[in-house]
Amino acid sequence: MIVLGLDGATHSLIRPWVDAGHLPTFARLYEESVHGDLESTIPEITVPAWPAFATGRNPERLDVYGFTHFNRETRELDLSHDEFIPGKMWDVVDDQGGRCVVFNIPGSHPWQAIDGTIIAAAPEYKDSYSYPEDRWDELEEVVGEYKLRNDATPGSRNYVDQSLSLVDKRFDGFEHFIEKENPELAVGLIRATDRVAHHYWSTEPKQSNPLFEVYSRVDERLGEFLDAHDDEDIVVMSDHGFEAVSKKFAPNYALSQAGLVHLSEGGDGKKQALGKLRDVASDVLGRIGLLTLARNVVPESYVADLPSGSALGLDNAISLGRIDWQRTRAVADIGQKTTMVYALTDDADERAEIVAEAREALAEAAENVGLDVRFVELDRGGPHTPDLTMIIETPEVHASSRFDVDAPLFDVSTSGHARNGIVFARGPSFRTGTVEDANITDIAPTVLHALGRRLPNSIDGDVLDVFAPDTDAADREPEYYDFVGENAVSEGGVSGDDERETEVKSRLRELGYLE
Ligand SMILES: [Zn+2]
Repeated sequence: MIVLGLDGATHSLIRPWVDAGHLPTFARLYEESVHGDLESTIPEITVPAWPAFATGRNPERLDVYGFTHFNRETRELDLSHDEFIPGKMWDVVDDQGGRCVVFNIPGSHPWQAIDGTIIAAAPEYKDSYSYPEDRWDELEEVVGEYKLRNDATPGSRNYVDQSLSLVDKRFDGFEHFIEKENPELAVGLIRATDRVAHHYWSTEPKQSNPLFEVYSRVDERLGEFLDAHDDEDIVVMSDHGFEAVSKKFAPNYALSQAGLVHLSEGGDGKKQALGKLRDVASDVLGRIGLLTLARNVVPESYVADLPSGSALGLDNAISLGRIDWQRTRAVADIGQKTTMVYALTDDADERAEIVAEAREALAEAAENVGLDVRFVELDRGGPHTPDLTMIIETPEVHASSRFDVDAPLFDVSTSGHARNGIVFARGPSFRTGTVEDANITDIAPTVLHALGRRLPNSIDGDVLDVFAPDTDAADREPEYYDFVGENAVSEGGVSGDDERETEVKSRLRELGYLE
């Protein structure tokens, strides 16, 4: 079984380009696979979407809401990079005796030891980029210098060329480890479909459109890949879709109008001055979608005057130190189309009251500007889990982190994530036609079931109705078990680092995975 992720790949580009006679491999996939939309996580961001993909669990259970996420208890923005996420599908296969190859999946590090190979993903920034460590050198022997992310200047031709080169190297490297290790499960990711969509959005099927160029290269390489694995089960999927963004909605403006958010009188003067600069930068950074890593991925001139580190996570009053925490009862963090509202209380009745007020304020503000929105209330889980989320259903409108705006809705010209990604499943186990209501958390259980493996009880997703009649997977009921015991983090895992292992174990304990 091979799962190939194409970050941010979207039917809204692929379908029209196929209909116009381009992308022959995707045209073939529409014919030869079972396919449909794949709904992303709440919020629809690369992380938590890939961890949810890997584990079959919702962000609510993972307590991960972005590369940075608001912590209700400390009222600060935390980085999620170092969070160990237990119960990834390759750990489950490993637990049941299978071998896996994992290639460039965001959120795969810190890892636990598995039988097989793991190559890290951006935004990993640690010294060990692979497990076992020698696999990195092996990869570079095969494909030459290997980069986890494109470090050229966005907007330049060099960036596009490097994106195309990274697509080639990823296919070559992934194929190398599949051939060499003959794994039961191989999971790989192409990232350029997301990065180039952020930087060069255009729906024109022309060679002069870098996004079309990248999709064409992926289509070509995917065609060769399908030919090489013609008799195997292959799932091609994405973590979210993509769309043009013409307007942004500022939830904290609405919450502040309703008296739920209060700004301090003066705040920190220096930080406020930086705030103006950061408002300008936020559009640039927001477009890239990796706020925390802005320093690494945008031209130095954009960020030279910005504060670095975790404070760069959220371009609003939280990071500017301008929230009057004494008087503020709720605050919103944002991710693409999703607004995440945190009620700042531990009292259940008060929480319900605040959530109701915030919901009314946001619903009214959204209605006033003609937005179609949907609310989802979440159970109070870890400190990063919001109490209320609001998803903007109107196409081409995203939520904004901006605070100092004069109206809740303002014009922008950019691109960003859409709620629905793609899924195609092709091979002897799968039927053809379409699949409805598929969610990204359904991939792990479906893959494990197809492999004839037991599923962890912790999985939120369902086994999808995608199997060909009379196949073993179609005839069998999914079997569940209690995955993860005290061997979850075994020797050699988590880079063999004692300190980190202790950290990860205590994290596992907090999550209830270790006694
Ligand atoms: Zn993504």
